[in-house]
Amino acid sequence: MIKPLKHTLLAAALAAATFTAQAAAPMVKTPAPGFFRVMVGDVEVTPISDGTVDLPMDQLLHQKPETTRATLAKNFLKVPVETSDNAFLINTGSKLVLVDTGAGALFGPTLGKFVNNLKAAGYQPEQIDEIYITHMHGDHVGGLVKDGQRAFPNAIVRAGKADADFWLNKTNMDKAPADKKGFFQGAMASINPYIQAGKFKAIDGDGELVPGVSALAEHGHTPGHTVYVVQSQGQKLLLIGDLIHVGAVQFDNPQVTIGFDSDEKAAAASRKKVFDDAAKSGALVGGAHLQFPGLGHIETQGKGYRWIPVNYTQMR
Ligand SMILES: [Zn+2]
Repeated sequence: MIKPLKHTLLAAALAAATFTAQAAAPMVKTPAPGFFRVMVGDVEVTPISDGTVDLPMDQLLHQKPETTRATLAKNFLKVPVETSDNAFLINTGSKLVLVDTGAGALFGPTLGKFVNNLKAAGYQPEQIDEIYITHMHGDHVGGLVKDGQRAFPNAIVRAGKADADFWLNKTNMDKAPADKKGFFQGAMASINPYIQAGKFKAIDGDGELVPGVSALAEHGHTPGHTVYVVQSQGQKLLLIGDLIHVGAVQFDNPQVTIGFDSDEKAAAASRKKVFDDAAKSGALVGGAHLQFPGLGHIETQGKGYRWIPVNYTQMR
């Protein structure tokens, strides 16, 4: 009769000791490292996180809010959706090219982590030769400046001419509704310091920008939205910017557009065109708002697509 009691007490004492030992180490609660790394042929590609932002996707996506919420629930997500903001650093061996820069100070404290993560990835802002902007929304251009100064002092910045013509135009800003003026202000504050320094060049038409990296106009999300294509040794990476925002919804239902689209029809058409190309060619795809590191492959599936996240590699 006594033995089981003794055992029970011993077990309780052990459990208490174990619990105390676990609780003694404080939880760290810092995020996992904000960079990832793969090779595309001979080119080193480093996705870099700018952080995440919570977005009310049931309100932003253009379908019934309850449909969005149900689809998110099936994917173990809920609103607001914690949404990644990814930039991509490309080292061709002769040029260091950055595609998008994160939000800088424009979107609050959960974003703006790009420079810290760039340094953790082994690079410094001064080393970047070229910056290619997918489009001039604040979560892609905000990181170009720090305290009003160019954050990348040695870089040439390039972006689609139609985006420059639209977002950097004061008349367009004056005409825009009050809740849309911030888009113009963010673009101007980010790009103008580079224009003043003679370091901005608009991209007019498709074509190679540096050996191995080319621009592909895919307008719709914004007037000058641009996809960047990295090619090396027969391998291809498509950096698709904002052709998709919510993977859990829009791969299955690519016709669903989002409130941020300048031209919804054109945005959906460019999504379909680039996704079909990626599915056919087997190219690797990098998305600005697909969950970090935002890299994977696309397959056609039914009336939509399937996203296959890239495998983890130590690049042996
Ligand atoms: Zn975006």
